[in-house]
Amino acid sequence: MRRPLVAGNWKMNGTRSSVAGLVQDLAAMDVPEAVQLAVFPSAVHLGQVHEGLFRSTIELGAQDCAFDAGFGALTGEVSPKQLADLGCEWVLVGHSERRLLLGESDEIVRRKFEAALSCGLKPILCVGETLEQRESGKAFEVVEAQLTAILGPLGIGVFEKAVVAYEPVWAIGTGLTASPEQAQEVHAAIRARLNKANSLVAAGTRILYGGSVKPQNAAELFAMPDIDGGLIGGASLSAEDFGAICRAV
Ligand code: PGA
Repeated sequence: MRRPLVAGNWKMNGTRSSVAGLVQDLAAMDVPEAVQLAVFPSAVHLGQVHEGLFRSTIELGAQDCAFDAGFGALTGEVSPKQLADLGCEWVLVGHSERRLLLGESDEIVRRKFEAALSCGLKPILCVGETLEQRESGKAFEVVEAQLTAILGPLGIGVFEKAVVAYEPVWAIGTGLTASPEQAQEVHAAIRARLNKANSLVAAGTRILYGGSVKPQNAAELFAMPDIDGGLIGGASLSAEDFGAICRAV
């Protein structure tokens, strides 16, 4: 009942010409109908990708948005209203690179999540522990706190229009992947936390795994009962690898 989602996070990569090539390859790709696909280019390339994927079923998302839903004096930021106007359907919130390198707090993540929803965007809430937190046995605690920072103030209802992505920080861009069992354990804990609030919403919420997903390891991860797709970084920059990961669902 949960349609798998594979999302490609292009991060701070690409030029107009490399993006044109990638979009052309993606547009020509055979997408299995059972899987929903979305790509998340740099903000400066969103318009270009939207035009390039016009005839494709691949959806568009942004990597971040402002914590304010309107327009106004917030130099350098992009309003979720502007993203929706551009044709975006999705937005990542709380990616660990923003939490750890740019100091984004749970409170800021919550405001972005809320602002995105109010503009009709579907947020993908990223959660995950660092290596140090995992080694000190705090993985669940950290992930639960990040989830509760949304669930507490906004309520379970918002997860009807949102997706959760579990991305252990130690697995992002490192080549280290959580084993399918390690990932499943956290995914099940996330669903259990949602289930405490509402079992129907919990059963319908998609929980993606992210962190060094590649064509070689995608199938075994996606075979786990609580893994409903992936958030793909590095491998999403190649249409061939991204396509292979989508077909592994
Ligand atoms: P990776 O990145 O696939 O390159 O590890 C995942 C992410 O950060 O979304």
